[in-house]
Amino acid sequence: MINLTVWNEDGCAQNEEVAKVYPDGINAYLAEMFGAESDMNVTKACLDDPECGLPDEVLENTDVLIWWGHCKHERVPDELVAKIHDRVLRGMGLIVLHSGHYSKIFKSLMGTTCSLSWRDGDRERLWNIAPNHQITQGIGDNIVLDVEEMYGERFDIPEPDETIFLGWFSGGEVFRSGCCWNRGLGKVFYFQPGHESNPTYKNKDIQTVLKNAVRWAAPYSIRKEPIDAPHVPVSPEEEYAKSKA
Ligand code: ZN
Repeated sequence: MINLTVWNEDGCAQNEEVAKVYPDGINAYLAEMFGAESDMNVTKACLDDPECGLPDEVLENTDVLIWWGHCKHERVPDELVAKIHDRVLRGMGLIVLHSGHYSKIFKSLMGTTCSLSWRDGDRERLWNIAPNHQITQGIGDNIVLDVEEMYGERFDIPEPDETIFLGWFSGGEVFRSGCCWNRGLGKVFYFQPGHESNPTYKNKDIQTVLKNAVRWAAPYSIRKEPIDAPHVPVSPEEEYAKSKA
């Protein structure tokens, strides 16, 4: 069972435009979608919950954390970001969606500005350029999104360990839309589609990508203690030689 926490800066639809597409907000929609999977145990969390929805007992029980944020990145306390960062290094998976590229946690794990260019209301063709990757299973050559916000290069990120989707927009822009990194023992996936007033998360292929991503990012185990640098006073070979003496 994967303990999945779905985090959003808003616990409900933040305005009328969003409510037209997701009456209860994006977080409720995604939580319900993941909750229908028999191997996922879903917790909903948002900024206005006590301790931003991520008190220690929730965070320390999360295998994979999904992050959607847009206007309120600065309201996430630095201490919480440090805790999430630490847990990723110990093995927790992190999936950062759309405008989460500017979240504190993504920027802190990337170490760069994570800036990009953007324009509302474009059309996107999302190319699957890694058909043998776990996250792209069940997806064809490309996914067409009739309306999606354009995110364009240059995307100021460190070179991904794997780039699995390339976005093309009708304005001619291209974007590294699906990128994977290892950070410590944790896996990080950034996925570009998902503007709040577009029905992107209702697209079946997008849903398949998200579910695959959760299973890909799920850790075999998560360390209890931070990773340190142990001093080894006696080498294993020395010990072995002594045992044979
Ligand atoms: Zn957006």
